[in-house]
Amino acid sequence: GQANIGLIGLGTMGAALALNIAEKGFPIAVWNRTTSVTQAFHAGAGALAARIVPTETLAALVSAIAAPRTIILMVPAGPAVDQQLEALAPYLGPDDLVVDAGNANFHDTNRRTAAGLPFRFVGIGVSGGEEGARHGPAIMVGGAAEDWQRLSPVLQAIAARTEDGTPCADWMGPAGAGHFVKAVHNGIEYADMQMIAETYGVMRDGMGLASEAIGQIFARWNEGTLRSYLVEISAAVALARDPVAGGPLLDMIVDAAGQKGTGRWTAIEAQNLAAPIPVIEAAVMARNVSARRAERAIGEALFGAAPQRLDGVLTADDLEQALIAGKILCYAQGFAMMTAAGAEFGWALDMPAIARVWRAGCIIRSAMLNDMANALSEDPARNLILAPFFADHLRHCLPALRRVVAAGAQNGLALPALASGLAWFDMMRTARGTANMIQGQRDYFGLHGFQRLDGIDRPHGPWAAGASA
Ligand code: NDP
Repeated sequence: GQANIGLIGLGTMGAALALNIAEKGFPIAVWNRTTSVTQAFHAGAGALAARIVPTETLAALVSAIAAPRTIILMVPAGPAVDQQLEALAPYLGPDDLVVDAGNANFHDTNRRTAAGLPFRFVGIGVSGGEEGARHGPAIMVGGAAEDWQRLSPVLQAIAARTEDGTPCADWMGPAGAGHFVKAVHNGIEYADMQMIAETYGVMRDGMGLASEAIGQIFARWNEGTLRSYLVEISAAVALARDPVAGGPLLDMIVDAAGQKGTGRWTAIEAQNLAAPIPVIEAAVMARNVSARRAERAIGEALFGAAPQRLDGVLTADDLEQALIAGKILCYAQGFAMMTAAGAEFGWALDMPAIARVWRAGCIIRSAMLNDMANALSEDPARNLILAPFFADHLRHCLPALRRVVAAGAQNGLALPALASGLAWFDMMRTARGTANMIQGQRDYFGLHGFQRLDGIDRPHGPWAAGASA
């Protein structure tokens, strides 16, 4: 074999990844289910074609790679991955390594890792879309630590780099840990996008600003604490002109969000872990509500259009501060969920390493992740809102978040993600909550018992038959 790595699946992501790998100096053999795609890919690879070996059968792919082989799978998550693992089994030995780089559900990666495949297997999460895959994605690696050692030269070579030159590829933990961290990344992506969309809604419907003015405000936010890829592209989206009708393109885009389901996985896992991630859950909910356009139109006809002008009530600075607060709350929830998952699955997830890997290449890359990595380094298990740096930030930004959420509630502007972040925060800063009522209710109808503040062992109320005896 002349290549030292192989790749299966020359779709959007696989083709970009193969070019990236070849460009970094690694000869690579490629195979695609549809051979014409392989030929077209090789023909279009330009100068990099010399480092790419196109193959037409799996047997040819395998023999084009020097042993021990590494083969990256970039096919749709689900049955296609199982089919390819099965198809590769006759050709590979126990030292060969197959890397599932698609968006697998981490439960599938756990299952495949435990399945006793006749070769080594790891699952890695790759973020950054086609552009990232081509020029530098963030890579979240799961599986055995020795397989990470083996993969790290190529993965660190192709990964995005932070401003200080650190490659954004790292080992997250065993088995499905890489795909799990990728799923949480996507959940946070949903939440970041939703919170930005909510501030857009306040500016559009509450403040009467045109898309162009909103784009300029986002662009300004991108110069400060909120500096991030998603705020940057939100500015570009709001500023774009419609090539068909003229006018702002954003005003022409249908308000029904699509999704591939990774945000939903994160919400479901959080529920399974009893880990509160209300901002992400609200973002998933909001996409689902957005899809019900016909029902929403009937609702508006029945109840009247809600948004009223908030002139003079809120400023763009209030919205910026509210978004900073919401972002801190959302990430605090996401990291706490990963801490819970680490404990549940027996993975020593390295929180600062996760924050560092997200600093470049991925969709949620932002300046704030640097500060998060630092705060998590001080105490990885401490909730981010309790870290002094972010507690100071929150003290400063919370009044604006409160004003924004209150104005939204008063005026019928839906702010589900920002509002649920605030509700969670207010619970987290309340030592004496209201679950004493829940416990009273549970004991009343189900004799579930409660603990008393004075420590006296009298777990039932007078409503329980015989409890007063
Ligand atoms: P594409 O649809 O562009 O490409 C899919 C590739 O998989 C094609 O090469 C296709 O081959 C091949 N394929 C499909 N089914 C099978 C099968 N049963 N057996 C063998 N090969 C098969 O997908 P993407 O590149 O967008 O996505 C690939 C993976 O990467 C997915 O898991 C996706 O979720 C993930 N991902 C995608 C991102 C993106 O921005 N697009 C970002 C991050 C991750 P053929 O030419 O024969 O159809």
